[in-house]
Amino acid sequence: SKCWKVKKMFDGIPKDDDLELVDEILPDPKDGEMLIEALYLSVDPYMRIVLTESHIGGTMIGEQISRVIDSRDEHYPVGTIVRNFAGWRHKTIIKHENTRRMPDLGDFPLSTALGVMGMPGLTAYFGFLEICKPKKGEVVVINGAAGAIGSLVGQIAKIKGCKVIGFAGDDEKCKWMKDLGFDFAYNYKKVILDDVLKKSAPDGIDCFFDNVGGDFSVTVLQHMNSLGRVSICGIISLYNTNKVHSRPNEQPKDLYPIPSTVMDSKQLIISTYDVNKKWSDEQWKEGEKQIAEWIREGKIRYRETITDGIENMYTAFQGLFVGSNIGKALVKC
Ligand code: NDP
Repeated sequence: SKCWKVKKMFDGIPKDDDLELVDEILPDPKDGEMLIEALYLSVDPYMRIVLTESHIGGTMIGEQISRVIDSRDEHYPVGTIVRNFAGWRHKTIIKHENTRRMPDLGDFPLSTALGVMGMPGLTAYFGFLEICKPKKGEVVVINGAAGAIGSLVGQIAKIKGCKVIGFAGDDEKCKWMKDLGFDFAYNYKKVILDDVLKKSAPDGIDCFFDNVGGDFSVTVLQHMNSLGRVSICGIISLYNTNKVHSRPNEQPKDLYPIPSTVMDSKQLIISTYDVNKKWSDEQWKEGEKQIAEWIREGKIRYRETITDGIENMYTAFQGLFVGSNIGKALVKC
């Protein structure tokens, strides 16, 4: 079986020799265990910022959807599909307590349990609705807007009757955002942010869903209306600086500089969160139900960028930081 091991801590942009692909021979499962084979591996930005020295030599962390191929647990017979955090590995011996509840996918593809029906979907749902509390007619700005989370936030904002302004790093992504119903879609590499915000949000911004952080966010904050809401989902533009070492809700405040002029005058409501900790399993189930309904009604569309083969997992991951993916990034094993 193949498995990606951590050789070194990431230092700046993830480099080819930070991880290595190794062959492993696994034992047979013992009583209460099962052998699972990954079908899809999730490719996520957080993987850049959660490693500590203790991970060196271990399996690279991550979530996967897998099939049970041998079992000594009667409740998980061969063929059962499980979602789990086994990491970047093809086959794994696992116990059921180390698996995670599968969403009710109905006829959706299994890959959606890592995307629109999984962590990115629920982050978009709660991170936007619960933190931004959007009202009809309000102006919403989203960056990373053609990614797994951002593309869903824009569509949820349209469902709620908002005006949506999205930013992404290439023209094809912008075309897709327009197709999804965004009112404005800009390639941030080609425009002057301050100018396009003046043009598309002349009366200011009510909700800002931030996936990117850094200078982009500082500029957007100047355009916020009083009592505007800022959902700091992530700050990917800073992940390769070595200054961000944990989940977004644990990041030091100085990584998200809020100009004092903005703080003093606008009374913004600004929140970070970890979707896995902030909302309960019961809330996740409600969110999954609503997202599934919106997909079936044609109100939400999703896209996946699927790379073939575990041997290409690292390339897919490195691609997140140069914008190779549209929608959810995944690897098919
Ligand atoms: P995406 O699918 O959006 O993929 C990452 C995208 O980020 C890239 O495609 C690229 O698109 C953009 N990007 C990369 N580097 C930069 C940069 N320097 N400046 C601007 N844009 C950049 O990922 P996800 O939807 O999975 O995640 C989005 C954010 O949400 C991340 O910050 C992540 O850490 C965070 N997150 C937070 C969670 C929480 O609980 N708070 C849970 C899950 C994710 P482009 O071509 O547009 O540049």
